[in-house]
Amino acid sequence: MQELNEKIRKFGTVLPGNVLKVDAFLNHQVDPELMFHVGQEFAKRFADKGITKIWTVESSGIAPAVMTGLAMKVPVIFARKHKSLTLNNNMYVADVYSYTKKTTNRISISKKYVAPDDKILMIDDFLANGQAVEGMLEIADQAGVAVAGAGIVIEKSFQPGGKELRDRGIRVESLARIKSLADNQIEFEED
Ligand code: 5GP
Repeated sequence: MQELNEKIRKFGTVLPGNVLKVDAFLNHQVDPELMFHVGQEFAKRFADKGITKIWTVESSGIAPAVMTGLAMKVPVIFARKHKSLTLNNNMYVADVYSYTKKTTNRISISKKYVAPDDKILMIDDFLANGQAVEGMLEIADQAGVAVAGAGIVIEKSFQPGGKELRDRGIRVESLARIKSLADNQIEFEED
C-alpha cells in the first residue's frame, strides 16, 4: 500500500533488536485518515468472505481493527492483555509471548461476544514471530469459530511469523512488507 509505505519511509525509525518504531502514525499518535484507508483496504481484500467479527489484541491493533470493522460493518473485539489471569469460565484465554517486550501476556476474549457461527478476521499492527496471531487462532480453536485470515498493517517478512502462518494455510494479507531493517535501513519487499 503506497500511502503506508511512504509514511513508514518518512516517519519510521529503527530501534535495536529489529524493531521498527512508527509512533508518529500507528503506535502512539494515530493518523486517522491513513487508518481509514487501511480499514478500507482490508475490507476490500476480505470482501465476500462472510466475516462477522474482527478480532485484534490491545492496544496497537485497535485503530486499524476499528477502521476495518467500520468499513465491513461488523463489530470489533480486542483481546485484553493481562500479566496473569486466574482462569475464568466466561473467558477464552491464550498465552502470548512477546519477543519485543520479552514477556508473556495472557490474552482473553469474553465468551459473551463470541457466537458459534462467527467468522473471524484477525487484524494486528505488526507481524513478527506470529505469536499474537497464534494466540488469537488458539482462542478461535477453543471457541470453535471459523477464521478467514489475518490482516496485518506491517509485516516484517525477515521474521518467521508470516511464513509459518501461510505454510499452515492461514491467509495473511499484509499492507507493507519489510524485507530488512539491517544497518538502520528500512528495506521494503517490493524495492
Ligand atoms: P509477533 O507476535 O508477531 O511476534 O509480534 C506482534 C506484536 O509485537 C505486534 O502486535 C506489535 O505490538 C509487536 N511488534 C513486533 N515487532 C514490532 C516492531 O518492529 N515494531 C513495533 N512497533 N511493534 C512490534
